[in-house]
Amino acid sequence: MTVQTRKIFPSLLGNEKLKNTLSSDFASGKSAHAYILDGPSGSGKRTAALLIAQAVLCEHRDDASHPLPCGKCPVCRKIAGGISVDVMTVSNGDHATIGVEAIRQIRQTLYVAPNDGDKKIYIIENAHRMTVQAQNALLLSLEEPPPYVMFLLLTEDASALLETVRSRAPTIKTELFPSAFVTEFLAAQPNLTPAQRERIPASAHLCGGSLGSALNLLKSGDTELALYKTAEEFVDLLLNGKKTDALVFINTSLPKDREKTRTLLTLVRFALRDLLASKKDGELLFFTELPSYARRVSIRRLLELSEAVVRAENDIAANGAQVTVLTALVCGG
Ligand SMILES: [Zn+2]
Repeated sequence: MTVQTRKIFPSLLGNEKLKNTLSSDFASGKSAHAYILDGPSGSGKRTAALLIAQAVLCEHRDDASHPLPCGKCPVCRKIAGGISVDVMTVSNGDHATIGVEAIRQIRQTLYVAPNDGDKKIYIIENAHRMTVQAQNALLLSLEEPPPYVMFLLLTEDASALLETVRSRAPTIKTELFPSAFVTEFLAAQPNLTPAQRERIPASAHLCGGSLGSALNLLKSGDTELALYKTAEEFVDLLLNGKKTDALVFINTSLPKDREKTRTLLTLVRFALRDLLASKKDGELLFFTELPSYARRVSIRRLLELSEAVVRAENDIAANGAQVTVLTALVCGG
């Protein structure tokens, strides 16, 4: 007789490291009371967090004949639908930071017993945006949480978390997907129209390694793809063009809409990531082929500009005027 090992997180694509760590934690019944999920935007942190919540609360969690989570029981479905009262999400929303007030609200409900199941889960999105005060407030809860509480801290930059916070929760890295993987994933989507099929190669290359972005590109079509082209041009001007041209570009070719500007800056960051990766013969996720100026740009310049782009993203999120923020990026970044 063959002994079947239980399938854990069967629906999570890629991310083998994360699956391995969590599988052994869950299989041995020794899951931590807090995890930090650390990875770039689009690497599946939110998906992984919801799967962990399902695994903790699934009606079949103790029945090894089901995968973990089963994904089908009412509890799993509620969590996937975002309507479980035992899974709470804290996010910065429209604000640049997560302040101490948000953490106080967690602390107020912390000792209220779970509703449906025997555990409750707090997901903190963009945890790197917690202020120092907020992190210190959270620390009290992380140190001695009630036994039925689990925290999941989602972050694009675990190093922005206080050492004291990081020492209370194991960090698990989430990863972006190579474009070959994304291509396969897109091609396997049901009911694709011929136009969508045609967009698969472009979507796979331009998604920055994010399955979510790849699907959006595939489905939403040419407007989104145009934004990628704009990002590509902007990066070219930032690294290869004249400042004056870049300034004209800001005023003539960039989106006026705040959300689109944020997306554009994220794409610029993906492009810079590619240029950095190319220095170490890493795989390209954003560019289909390396731009001609790539070899001439120094690693230092790429790092400086990446930091400036992150600052610009934060400024836009904090309601900074788009043209002002982008001008500062061109002139100072
Ligand atoms: Zn279930």
